[in-house]
Amino acid sequence: MDYLTWALIAIALCGFMAYSRASLTSFTIAFTLLMVAGTFFNVVSFFSWLVFAVIAIPLNVSDIRKQYITKPLLTMFKGIMPEMSKTEQEAIDAGTTWFEAELFRGTPDWKKLHNYPKPRLNAEEQAFLDGPVEEVCRMTDDWQTTHELADLSPEVWQYLKDNKFFAMIIKKQYGGLEFCAYAQSRVLQKLSSVSSVLSSTVGVPNSLGPGELLQHYGTKEQQDHYLPRLVKGDEIPCFALTSPEAGSDAGAIPDFGIVCRGEFNGEEVLGMRLTWNKRYITLAPVATVLGLAFKLQDPDHLLGEQEDLGITCALIPTDIDGVITGRRHFPLNVPFQNGPTQGDGVFVPLDFIIGGPEMAGQGWRMLVECLSVGRAITLPSNSAGGIKSLALATGAYSRIRRQFKISIGKMEGVEEALARIGGNAYLMDAVTTMSTGAIDLGEKPSVISAISKYHLTEKMRNCVADAMDIHGGKGVCMGPGNYIARGYQGAPVAITVEGANILTRSMIIYGQGAIRCHPYVLAELSAASNKDEQQALNDFDHALFGHVGFAISNICRSVWFSFTGSYALSAPYNDETRRYYQLMTRFSSNLAMLSDIAMLTLGGDLKRRERISARLGDILSFLYLASATLKRYNDEGRQSADLPFLQWALEDSLYNIQQAISELISNFPNKVVAKMLTAIILPLGCNLKKPSDATDHKVAKLMQYHNESRTRLGQGQYLTREPENVLGQLEQTLEDIIACEPIFDKVCRELGERLPFYNLDIVAEKGLSANIISQEEADLLITTEVKRKVTINVDDFDSDYLKAG
Ligand SMILES: Cc1cc2nc3c(=O)[nH]c(=O)nc-3n(C[C@H](O)[C@H](O)[C@H](O)COP(=O)(O)OP(=O)(O)OC[C@H]3O[C@@H](n4cnc5c(N)ncnc54)[C@H](O)[C@@H]3O)c2cc1C
Repeated sequence: MDYLTWALIAIALCGFMAYSRASLTSFTIAFTLLMVAGTFFNVVSFFSWLVFAVIAIPLNVSDIRKQYITKPLLTMFKGIMPEMSKTEQEAIDAGTTWFEAELFRGTPDWKKLHNYPKPRLNAEEQAFLDGPVEEVCRMTDDWQTTHELADLSPEVWQYLKDNKFFAMIIKKQYGGLEFCAYAQSRVLQKLSSVSSVLSSTVGVPNSLGPGELLQHYGTKEQQDHYLPRLVKGDEIPCFALTSPEAGSDAGAIPDFGIVCRGEFNGEEVLGMRLTWNKRYITLAPVATVLGLAFKLQDPDHLLGEQEDLGITCALIPTDIDGVITGRRHFPLNVPFQNGPTQGDGVFVPLDFIIGGPEMAGQGWRMLVECLSVGRAITLPSNSAGGIKSLALATGAYSRIRRQFKISIGKMEGVEEALARIGGNAYLMDAVTTMSTGAIDLGEKPSVISAISKYHLTEKMRNCVADAMDIHGGKGVCMGPGNYIARGYQGAPVAITVEGANILTRSMIIYGQGAIRCHPYVLAELSAASNKDEQQALNDFDHALFGHVGFAISNICRSVWFSFTGSYALSAPYNDETRRYYQLMTRFSSNLAMLSDIAMLTLGGDLKRRERISARLGDILSFLYLASATLKRYNDEGRQSADLPFLQWALEDSLYNIQQAISELISNFPNKVVAKMLTAIILPLGCNLKKPSDATDHKVAKLMQYHNESRTRLGQGQYLTREPENVLGQLEQTLEDIIACEPIFDKVCRELGERLPFYNLDIVAEKGLSANIISQEEADLLITTEVKRKVTINVDDFDSDYLKAG
């Protein structure tokens, strides 16, 4: 063996071992054997052994390594470690990680993804969806709700209370429904087909609020008192955190409570005097019990040594003297109950703290823990449900509405927008299913909930805008027949609440993801803040060398995948989806590498470089969205008819990942590092394309006639064909129009005339009198013409009716 061959074998061995994440010991043993072989063939000199020993001994002898390598690095790390406030620390500690951690770490196990059980509804949950949920959809008139009453009707409120809609999360022992997260999501999706006021009103008490907080942290007395009352609707809850001075920075609330003695219900008790000014609080105007977050202070040390106890949550009945509620905000013409609340020196007993006095100061932890679950359910489900319904409605409308003598849905420009709606609807449903499935497996997936909240609300906003464009004036003119405009008006509400979206993308997704999903960063941070120096050194040593191996491995993997185009990677299926798995594994390794390089070169500054953080978060997010879509395809039996939806969603997600990587690299502060990153990750530039026109065409086509794929796209939505259900009627009209098309063609052909596709009643007359069609066919043309007109017409009103009452 000559020297060159030996060197090539050495490089290949290093690359292979790094690629497969071999341990330092295995690495050392393998290299020692290679050195021995090299000595045997006379290509390894004594000097080479010396260099090898100088590197290998300190690395492998733990005492030397810790003293001379780890210790100085630990000191340096402490210097650059980002500062973390108590609220940030609690937010990071909240919740668990799940499949997103696999995606973050560079080697996602696709079998594991597909082996997670498919979420299912039990008989009771299914019956609730088929019974009370259908019924309340039937009862709700969104125009009356939004335009005339600025509220749900009293009958709908009563029906919701009587049928325990506000108690989906409350345990059976208190009389609640105790539905799984997946079932809650399905209920909200269906409600959102009809009215966003309805889905928000039901969503909020089942999300972060008194019910959830009481079940997790309440004392037995609090649970026994409140939970059965919440179930029956005798109590309407709200939760007040946001104040005028503290919106996104909710940890900075100025609202406070002072521990003191006072009189309550005629008795002197230890309590707190609360002062607050909150705004934007959903259900506050009608709430009977106010969940309140404030900072508790104990200046007279009535509870102990500590003066500033921190954020605390209490339950305050709204009929107590001094509690001000009732006034309303008017959020974007989607008038769900929302408003401010104030109190100035309101005295309540300490027992009003959720969990009792010992939970004083634990409020922030309680909130972020509950948010890690709730954020994956309510807003993502409302968004997905709304878009699923709108996908079907827009598909139907595109087929029914004709201009230039053809259905507008046949025009390529419209196809592009339709495909975005269809592809995203497929993906959004997949994401809510996978995320709620994770919760039902016992996870509190804080990173996944941030991803789901951000991306599904953004996709909803963009898809509604597309649907508006396709509907033209029909979307713009409001009235009982308009099924889009309120969703369009209200879209920014979902963007703003539960963590405004810019903040969620810029800070939360990657900020939490990097620390929670990275295999070593959390351990390094904990070690660096450990006061026990020896323990800190041991822990840091373990994490650091694991981290170094992990980083080298990701660089080797990224180089190899770029070199081979990642075509050599295995995938769980050798069909049309194979390439998607390969690219996702490649991007996952790229993310792991980019993440380490960003942390290494920017250190604590990464926290302030929000656009770098946002793009790293985008890579992780789109990997998650794409994984959920692949899982859906698999869980639904790999229906090849659905491939256009899957292809659109995957190609769009992969393209977005590539864009995020490319923008990240071109904006990377260190230009030398940026060049190196380009050479490793994008040596041939950006090759992936957006979904092609052909894919758009296939998706748009599927959306414009009844077929199984389209049915799966709208599964679970309120589409019952009843006279009052605008979307159900639209589905019927689509079916009838499609049945009329061949009859119409027959009449035109036989008459030798090119008639326009309207006034179908006149076409019927002509066809009948010329004996071209049967009476039955003529009847279909006549009834369909009525429905067609309903579909394309818009509402008009007396001027007086439109004046605000
Ligand atoms: C209709 C409605 C219902 C609500 N319901 C409730 C409720 O029931 N209970 C409750 O307590 N709260 C509720 N909220 C509050 C809500 O959840 C948000 O927390 C709050 O609206 C955000 O504060 P802000 O609107 O003052 O925006 P600001 O905090 O002023 O933010 C303005 C912009 O700056 C961005 N931003 C802020 N910080 C950063 C950062 N570090 N990096 C990047 N961008 C940043 C935000 O993303 C946003 O785009 C509700 C709000 C609305 C509008």
